[in-house]
Amino acid sequence: MRLILVGPPGAGKGTQAVHLAAHYKIPHISTGDIFRANLKNGTELGKQAQSFMDRGELVPDSVTNEMVRDRLGNTDVANGFLLDGFPRNTNQAQVLDQILAEKKMPLDAVLELKIDNAEIVKRLSGRRTCRGCGVSSHVEFEKPKVAGVCDKCQGELYQREDDKEEVVTRRLVIYTEQTAPIVEFYKSIGLLKIISALGDVSEITKKAISALG
Ligand code: AMP
Repeated sequence: MRLILVGPPGAGKGTQAVHLAAHYKIPHISTGDIFRANLKNGTELGKQAQSFMDRGELVPDSVTNEMVRDRLGNTDVANGFLLDGFPRNTNQAQVLDQILAEKKMPLDAVLELKIDNAEIVKRLSGRRTCRGCGVSSHVEFEKPKVAGVCDKCQGELYQREDDKEEVVTRRLVIYTEQTAPIVEFYKSIGLLKIISALGDVSEITKKAISALG
């Protein structure tokens, strides 16, 4: 299964990606997670990405595309992959197309998680992320057992700079202007499957698997 997961920030791509990657036994490749890991480790790539991430802007394509090209060079993608958060604009979609054509690895599907903007702001402004394992919870809808502490690894929960309300608004504008057009493109070539991002996590996973066939 070679799959792209798309949807606005806050649609729950990261959560669904973990479940779908486990179901199909494929690596979960999240460009956001790779950038955050680099930030945490203080690498050159992390330094290049930080100011863009903090403002909710896209990291320049020159940096992002090379990072993805490199990642897709790993042998673990031989049986498939799930891309989460990439591509996010037309140029990235074209570069991905070239990489996959060179590797003779055509995409099987693009799964879109649909959700409206009001729900996104509610979800993201209350989202807290673990500094240790990166898993997220919510101050209202998915409360950790102990406030501020990750249920899974006991790490510290924090609010991502880009989950603050004004940055969320900027990320949504970017999604509408830059990412939504590529979703239309995948629709036009018959690869797009759409499911609602509302409801229980496990129900959404089931819907996704049934949509993907
Ligand atoms: P995410 O966790 O996918 O929402 O990504 C967090 C941030 O990382 C984004 O707001 C961007 O600043 C950066 N980022 C992640 N994926 C990409 C991408 N495909 N292109 C450019 N920037 C990205």
